[in-house]
Amino acid sequence: MAPLSFLPDSFAEYDELKAILDIGSATFEIRSACDVKVEGRIFSMYTASIGSTDPLAPAIGFFGGIHGLERIGSQLVLDYMRALLGRLEWDELLVRQLQSVRLIFVPIVNPGGMWAATRANPNGVDLMRNAPQDADAHVPWLAGGQRIGAWLPWYRGRRGAPMEAEAVALLHVVENELASRPFSVALDCHSGYGWGDSIWFPYARTRGRMRHLAEMYALKTMFELAHPHHGYTFEPQSHQYLLHGDLWDCAYDRAPSDSTFLPVTLELGSWLWIKKNPRQLFSRQGMFNPVKAHRTARVLRRHANLLDFLTRAAFSSQRWLPQGSRRDLLQERAIDHWYGNGTR
Ligand SMILES: [Zn+2]
Repeated sequence: MAPLSFLPDSFAEYDELKAILDIGSATFEIRSACDVKVEGRIFSMYTASIGSTDPLAPAIGFFGGIHGLERIGSQLVLDYMRALLGRLEWDELLVRQLQSVRLIFVPIVNPGGMWAATRANPNGVDLMRNAPQDADAHVPWLAGGQRIGAWLPWYRGRRGAPMEAEAVALLHVVENELASRPFSVALDCHSGYGWGDSIWFPYARTRGRMRHLAEMYALKTMFELAHPHHGYTFEPQSHQYLLHGDLWDCAYDRAPSDSTFLPVTLELGSWLWIKKNPRQLFSRQGMFNPVKAHRTARVLRRHANLLDFLTRAAFSSQRWLPQGSRRDLLQERAIDHWYGNGTR
């Protein structure tokens, strides 16, 4: 028997997702990557795919809601899905794009946590600390990931225990839908850390460099030329802090060596929202999400450009992926920019 509870049986983002999947049922290929039980309720980690069915076509994945409190990330992905369905009615360019690129959406990776309004999943595990690898240098106390217990935040799970179902499912989606292709991108939307907005890429476990620094640098440069006033800090996660068990580090390290898989995390800085409306500090939701409607609208509007840009970059990868001596040059510039003397 389900425990007696006066809590609602769903939450706004989940209802919105189901509404979008309903409208898009003939357009999207819809699956559940895993089912999550929480206090007698069951939620699915839905995935929705659209576009080319060629397994060699470039692909992009949009992820949100890995942390249950960071609703704005899910809302961003859901907005993009809804807009995409609307555009499909008239946008011939989009229709042609989708003939040669694959899009996959996983807007609520941690539905149990979002329902319960917790950062962690229903087992108290922080999914973004749940991969098995350890950082190779000092991490921030607790926040870098801890194994003391689920009663403290940033819990990684027991050492040697299998990964949580949601983490396994996410890695599975990446392995089968993205990293198996010659070229793919993942965008994972978070919120909470920082005064400004950041785009982070691996690694979080080390200050060492990822293999695809030249490609990341090309992507950053293209984005800056397309959106000169974007305002993101585009850098390796390790420039901010190291952490244990980052899922994107793990997914990146597991990607086949002949593929180019570029995972990036969008971290929407929330400190300015709080500064403008300090009462937000007293609500758990308010520390991670804009509370005032006009600010939410502005956030959702501003970042839609990034999602669109990455889709185009995936679609056009043949045109811009650096090769040969140009790649060597970009690699050098990238090292100079992110790891050179005078930066860090
Ligand atoms: Zn997060």
